[in-house]
Amino acid sequence: MTSPAIASSPARPAQTETLSPLLGASQQQLTDWVQQQGQPAYRGKQLHQWLYSKGARSLSDITVFPKQWRAQVAEVPVGRSRLHHRAVAPDSTVKFLLRLTDGQIIETVGIPSEKRLTVCVSSQVGCPMACDFCATGKGGFLRNLAAHEIIDQVLTVQEDFQQRVSNIVFMGMGEPLLNIKAVVAAVRSFNRDIGISQRAITISTVGIPGQIQRLAEHRLQTTLAVSLHAADQALREQLIPSAERYPLEQLLADCRDYVQITGRRVTFEYILLAGLNDSEAQAAALAQQLRGFQSHVNLIPYNPIAEVAYQRPSRKRVRAFEHWLQQAGTAVSVRYSRGLEEAAACGQLRASQAQPQAMRKVESVSAKR
Ligand code: SAH
Repeated sequence: MTSPAIASSPARPAQTETLSPLLGASQQQLTDWVQQQGQPAYRGKQLHQWLYSKGARSLSDITVFPKQWRAQVAEVPVGRSRLHHRAVAPDSTVKFLLRLTDGQIIETVGIPSEKRLTVCVSSQVGCPMACDFCATGKGGFLRNLAAHEIIDQVLTVQEDFQQRVSNIVFMGMGEPLLNIKAVVAAVRSFNRDIGISQRAITISTVGIPGQIQRLAEHRLQTTLAVSLHAADQALREQLIPSAERYPLEQLLADCRDYVQITGRRVTFEYILLAGLNDSEAQAAALAQQLRGFQSHVNLIPYNPIAEVAYQRPSRKRVRAFEHWLQQAGTAVSVRYSRGLEEAAACGQLRASQAQPQAMRKVESVSAKR
């Protein structure tokens, strides 16, 4: 892979307007670049360290570089976003709104636990999938994120917590399989440049025809999570409009192929919506669909959003649903959303903070699709 930064590297002196951000480049690519700038090779290693471990936001921050050269390359884009808003929930989950260079706002969450620091990253500004229970879906779609805008989210959380990030989930705003190129580039950089194991990274998708296969071809060791939410086609279409173009049978067949190709099991996410998809018969149907499948079900009790009147089932009902699946031999766990007090449901914090003008733009773009 050639980094865009390297591919478009100018001859000296740095012509910054033609450069892509450096974030996402490997140590070798950075070394090539510094050498093209007339600097010794070891400056590549220093640059790599400062970008990925020392929080450099500009090359002028890198105090080990000679003053004169720092001034020359001060405008070379590193690819860091600006912090727009930070909110801490009582359970120590931290939500960040980041302002991208074009003024768009995205959401990232840092979720600490005893042994882990998990980052929930966004892959798009908004989301075109329009799932009925999702705050991001209600806001429409604006654009894909570039790899550096995804990598920046993880560095932001790592720096804020002053702790190494151990896990990454692509469960923030957006549909990662509509932005595979940038997502795969970011995953490779997380692994290579920040030292996060691919196995500790989960890519969550609602399912896009053909794209699970395309992701499989990259042979990542990441976990694939599929947002299923219903075990029958009609109910799934009601919750997820795009499901109309992706029959459940085909989606599950593609997941089976994914397991075959990658040797990794698939996780199925299932939002529990009271009175809609939480009956004993629906648990049985779900178990039946997944029989003989190397998989795991993650139950997510619905996190209320303002726009729709779905209900979260009682804890008792959540436990019962879990029990029914277990009885049927399905591997299952329950994931309660963290940071509820700070508008934890996907896209909520951004929806409450974004400027009306930006949101109107989002709507008009999504209407064209
Ligand atoms: N587009 C991808 C990833 C983003 S959403 C996908 O659909 O998988 C990440 C997860 O959060 C998905 O399982 C999604 O269904 C779930 N989610 C969205 N809104 C939610 C809500 N209000 N309550 C609980 N889970 C929600």
